[in-house]
Amino acid sequence: MHRILSKRFKGLLPLGFAMIIAMMILTSLVAASQIKQGADSMLSAIQQHSKNNKQLRNMSHAESSRSTILVSMIQTQDPFLLDELYFDLNAQTTKFNAAREILMMQEMDDNLKEMLEQQRKLSQIYEPMLNEVYSLLVEGKKVPATLLLTQQTLPRQKAVLDLFKDMADFQYNVESEANTKSKSDNHKVLTNVIIFDIVSVFISIILTRFILRRQREQDKELAYLATTDILTELPNRTNLISNISLHIKKKPVKPFAVIFFDIDYFKSINDNYGHEVGDELLRQFANKINWFIKPQDVLSRFGGDEFVLLLRSIKSEQEAVDLVNKLSNELDTSITINENEIFMSASIGASLYPLDGKDAKTLLTNADIAMYSAKELGRNCFQFFSKETSDQLEREHAMCHALHSVLKNQNKDNQLCLQYQPLLNIKTGDTTECEALLRWKNHNGESIAADEFIPLAEKTNLIEKLNLFVIDEACKQQSLWQNTRNNGMRININLSGNKIIFPKLLKRFIDNVEFYNLDPKLFGIELTERTIHEVSKGTIKHLEKMREKGVKISIDDFGTGYSSLSYLKKLPITTLKIDKEFIVGLPDDRADHALVKAIITLGHSLNLDVVAEGVETYEQFVFLKKYSCDIAQGYYYHRPLPGNKISHLQLAA
Ligand code: C2E
Ligand code: CA
Ligand code: CA
Repeated sequence: MHRILSKRFKGLLPLGFAMIIAMMILTSLVAASQIKQGADSMLSAIQQHSKNNKQLRNMSHAESSRSTILVSMIQTQDPFLLDELYFDLNAQTTKFNAAREILMMQEMDDNLKEMLEQQRKLSQIYEPMLNEVYSLLVEGKKVPATLLLTQQTLPRQKAVLDLFKDMADFQYNVESEANTKSKSDNHKVLTNVIIFDIVSVFISIILTRFILRRQREQDKELAYLATTDILTELPNRTNLISNISLHIKKKPVKPFAVIFFDIDYFKSINDNYGHEVGDELLRQFANKINWFIKPQDVLSRFGGDEFVLLLRSIKSEQEAVDLVNKLSNELDTSITINENEIFMSASIGASLYPLDGKDAKTLLTNADIAMYSAKELGRNCFQFFSKETSDQLEREHAMCHALHSVLKNQNKDNQLCLQYQPLLNIKTGDTTECEALLRWKNHNGESIAADEFIPLAEKTNLIEKLNLFVIDEACKQQSLWQNTRNNGMRININLSGNKIIFPKLLKRFIDNVEFYNLDPKLFGIELTERTIHEVSKGTIKHLEKMREKGVKISIDDFGTGYSSLSYLKKLPITTLKIDKEFIVGLPDDRADHALVKAIITLGHSLNLDVVAEGVETYEQFVFLKKYSCDIAQGYYYHRPLPGNKISHLQLAA
């Protein structure tokens, strides 16, 4: 919710600014248009006034000319000049009237109209007097004419001229008023624009501050998300690494520990009970550790079901050992989630600073290695990092790598090959079968024990390719033996793996048998107890078919596995192979003695052949013969040999 809001505000920032800028532009445009309107109307008023003024000036000018002409008419003695002046007087009167007519057509203020009306009334009174003055002058009656002019006409004319002066003053006032008003209007508009712009800037400052605050909150939230695991609310891997690095930077005097936890069988818990239970288990697991640790220690979720504890509070290495011991016990418990009882335990690995590493990466890697070796020990264990474990892991890694390239190169340099160990039938003294055993001589010429590289291959998908190689080689060998003295020698092939690869292996075996046109009776398959629980119903069906065709099926290393004996019923087996671990103590070790006897009896009662592996001494052989073991395999009789050196004729009981 928080994040959605922040995102929305982030989007509003440019929108808000765009709006403010748009408003500022808009108000400026409105203001500009208002100012222009004011200027236009003032201009048209001025133009109108100047038009009116022109006509007023014309009228005033004509009127004052008429006064001058009248005075000249009184003064002249010349009758011709009198007529001329009278003519001029009439011309000025026409001018006056024309200007007045034009003026009357213009737009005018009411006051001006009123003044013109006053002028009309005054002119109406003295206009006829002018003709009278002229008539008196023409008749030579100068005195009455002068009296009429000076006492009646000229004062009225002066009143008209005064009126024009008032009109001109009035026009000027109107104009300057309009000018002042326009200036004040412009001022108002500008003030409004400035106020508006200040408000806009103010709003944008508030908006920016608000958005920046949200942004800061969002950044904080993002930083939290980048450094915290949401499910457990613990620091995440990045956070932990920087925590360790920071602590190392401070050059700590006391040692500190990095402890790696991996919840045992978390994947199956998740698969069986669902992710909700898995998530709750992770939370409760974290809570349990958190209860134990001090504030200066940092528990983090490293990823998946892995947690890492940075233990800063310890004073000595022993304290770390004690705490890990305690934690291991505390975590080995059962909890109830959604009414399901879940058994919780963890494999724990620890590394110590500065002994096992001087930087975060090395400390974490070594704690992980220690955790891995704790897991190998059978889970619910804890291990401190040791150089030996690390070397062993490195060696295993190198071995896997080398084996992988041998298989990728299709064993071109023959590093891999099969050897065959003959088996002795104790009753008849014959050798009719052998076991194919894989040998690996690496590019340095070193022989690597099958016991070492096969379990490693079983942990990776290399085992599938190895098994296919063995099947191909064993079938090829069998086809080579077809026309030799070894014709009829059964080859027992060891197969190991998981339920995914078994069907592929069995198919490859059948294809090979067909390809070389071999009798299936010439083969046996050995399955270890270790891998038997991986055999699916489909594989059992395949095995049944193969058994019908005469393929022998043995349970290898019998007695060492941890699965129930029920597979003796489920699988179509023909043979039990007693592991050499039980043979080694024969005939003196009472337990071996009892166990071997029991296995032979069990095998026979199930109608199975019993093979004893690892027979090294005559005494062992005698013991096995005494208790009716069917077949013996071991150095006492023969070591494994290359295929071309095997011959059953050379073997004698
Ligand atoms: P395994 O199937 O129980 O093989 C018997 C092992 O005992 C062989 O060791 C063999 O050399 C050894 N052995 C035979 N006689 C004696 C004896 O008298 N004393 C002692 N101490 N050992 C004896 P190897 O060849 O090292 O094989 C070890 C294991 O590796 C085998 O045990 C088998 O589980 C696995 N393995 C070997 N070859 C293959 C293979 O081709 N495929 C698969 N999947 N596993 C194989
Ligand atoms: Ca075997
Ligand atoms: Ca065995």
